[in-house]
Amino acid sequence: MALDREQAKSLFEKYRKHRDGIRSNPELAGVCLICGSTHVGPHPEFSQQMICHSCGFAFYRYRCPDCGATVDGRDPLNPACRECGLRQCTCGACGCRSSYGSSP
Ligand SMILES: [Zn+2]
Ligand SMILES: [Zn+2]
Ligand SMILES: [Zn+2]
Repeated sequence: MALDREQAKSLFEKYRKHRDGIRSNPELAGVCLICGSTHVGPHPEFSQQMICHSCGFAFYRYRCPDCGATVDGRDPLNPACRECGLRQCTCGACGCRSSYGSSP
């Protein structure tokens, strides 16, 4: 599912301003929202991150181990957890706290 330049550009324009929904759009896994490049691939060191090979920007994008939803560090609904440094899923799970057995 390679995006052509026009598609990548319109996604970039749209989500640069309206970041809510980034996590649920699968095409955005391959678009850098910093520079608009589509040269985005898996991070060589961190399996839960993607990296833009054009500008070097890395971001979290992975499946939540608890509910299976996509977690994207650029989405405002996936804020960083201060304890584990990972991102919080919309279900509340992160690297140190999963919905399984969590306390309020
Ligand atoms: Zn970039
Ligand atoms: Zn989840
Ligand atoms: Zn955490």
